[in-house]
Amino acid sequence: MIPVTKPFMPRLEEYESYVRGIWQRQWLTNNGPLVNELELQLKQYLNVPHMIYVSNGTSALQIAIKALGLKGEIITTPFSFIATTSSILWEGWKPVFVDIDPDTLNMDPALIEAAITPQTSAIIATHVFGNPCDIDAIQEIAARHHLKVIYDASHCFGTKYKGQSVFQYGDISITSFHATKLFHTIEGGAVFTQDAALLKEMAYMRNFGFNGPEDFACVGINGKNSEFHAAMGLVNLKYADELLWRRKEQYQHYAKSLLGLNMQMQTIDKNADYNHAYFPIILPSEEVLKKMEAHLIGHGIYPRRYFYPSLHTLRFVEKYECAHSSSIAQRIMCLPLHHELTAEEMHMIVRILLRTQNN
Ligand SMILES: *Cc1c(COP(=O)(O)O)cnc(C)c1O
Repeated sequence: MIPVTKPFMPRLEEYESYVRGIWQRQWLTNNGPLVNELELQLKQYLNVPHMIYVSNGTSALQIAIKALGLKGEIITTPFSFIATTSSILWEGWKPVFVDIDPDTLNMDPALIEAAITPQTSAIIATHVFGNPCDIDAIQEIAARHHLKVIYDASHCFGTKYKGQSVFQYGDISITSFHATKLFHTIEGGAVFTQDAALLKEMAYMRNFGFNGPEDFACVGINGKNSEFHAAMGLVNLKYADELLWRRKEQYQHYAKSLLGLNMQMQTIDKNADYNHAYFPIILPSEEVLKKMEAHLIGHGIYPRRYFYPSLHTLRFVEKYECAHSSSIAQRIMCLPLHHELTAEEMHMIVRILLRTQNN
């Protein structure tokens, strides 16, 4: 069986050496030494001044929305993982969907202004599949209308924009370190900001608002992560460079071998140092997609329809017209891409796709 992705597993002995330390200290969670060490190492690796490690990418989004004091309408993208939309709803606010650019698959900045009303407080955009949004355009619109910006950068480990980590942009960027992501800590996530006051607020929020043992600075939640998760991150971080270059090789290999396939690839921003985290292909129709998917599954190969369905069609959101997102969501799938995928497996996938197209 060839899955769409596979969590990276380090050697068990490497993880065990950290677990032994946890056993000795008997400090399991609550901002322990491994959590601190992981934050330190990640800041160095990513070359970012500030970050807070949290329990997952979804709680990172919720903390970011709360810390910025967002309310009313939040402009967002219909083409993302459900957590981008559900976090807005969970906090009690209204997602206003703006359609995507069919080439970059990111929110189309040219459509944002028409969606702004007096109730709009922010823009939450996703850097889809690790491809940065048009950050300059979004920033310019946000500044002109006094809106906050949150980037869902869950796919972006290792991606740079104009030479620095893409996590540096927006009022807050969030990411996920879930097991299916390129770099993972089993479950986990992070919030990034350049604003010291906001950082402090989010640090309180992660830990119930505790300000010393008997005082609470604000309303918080439990967004903490454990020593065991941090340990996985510390081991996996040693392999991050290797995972990134392998992905790039595999991505380029797919791109070259699939030249004969009638499909469209995502256009990557020219300012990006891209992490090659996913290999999505956009097919001419859903019918073609279903045929290819069925043939792959018949051979034990499991692509995944990311992202489907388009979020503006969910039964619990107000309806908007997002023609590009609807169309792309019906025709796009991610091919298997992970550190253990072999050249032979890729050849087999490519052969099946080309053969299906030709009959
Ligand atoms: C994975 C993902 C999330 C959620 O992250 P979790 O850590 O699973 O909570 C949010 N947004 C996007 C775009 C994602 O891919």
